[in-house]
Amino acid sequence: MGIEVKKSKIEVVSAPTGHEGPGFFATSLDKAVGMARKNSLWPLPFATSCCGIEFMATMASHYDLGRFGAERLSFSPRQADLLMVMGTIAKKMGPVLRQVYEQMAEPKWVLSMGACASSGGIFDTYSVLQGIDRIIPVDVYIPGCPPRPEQVLDGILQIQKLAASESIRRRDTPEYKEMLAKYGLE
Ligand code: SF4
Repeated sequence: MGIEVKKSKIEVVSAPTGHEGPGFFATSLDKAVGMARKNSLWPLPFATSCCGIEFMATMASHYDLGRFGAERLSFSPRQADLLMVMGTIAKKMGPVLRQVYEQMAEPKWVLSMGACASSGGIFDTYSVLQGIDRIIPVDVYIPGCPPRPEQVLDGILQIQKLAASESIRRRDTPEYKEMLAKYGLE
């Protein structure tokens, strides 16, 4: 009786658009850099409450964030390019979150997961920050309380789109600098 071997479903990231011919392939630098950034996001999970548990489910084998090249979590801001804020952020914690953001090197993106991080959620109280975008810029918001892992994956896909299509020089543009200046950031 033979052993049934399942065919591997491992897929390779498709190459960016470019020009090819016998023995050569040429594309632009920003497309190559975008492809690399998109498929090697290093998330920093800033998880303070229940949304963090949902993120753990997203990391586990069933949803497997590793399929998106983002399984390498970083607890050091200097080795992360995606700040994922998940949970209630107390006003006292605001300066810490901001410091973590500032310690991350460019390029960096911010994903706000769930109602609490995005708007304070049900905690409309004196002690809770009513949305992290009051202190740091946010690229993608994930709605829900808590969002399901599928929504987290969708948020990651939106960040991937930004990372892939963002010009390598976007961070030097006047618009981006102006936006940072509104937050009192450099
Ligand atoms: S949005 Fe809901 S699940 Fe997420 S941290 Fe707030 S209360 Fe918890």
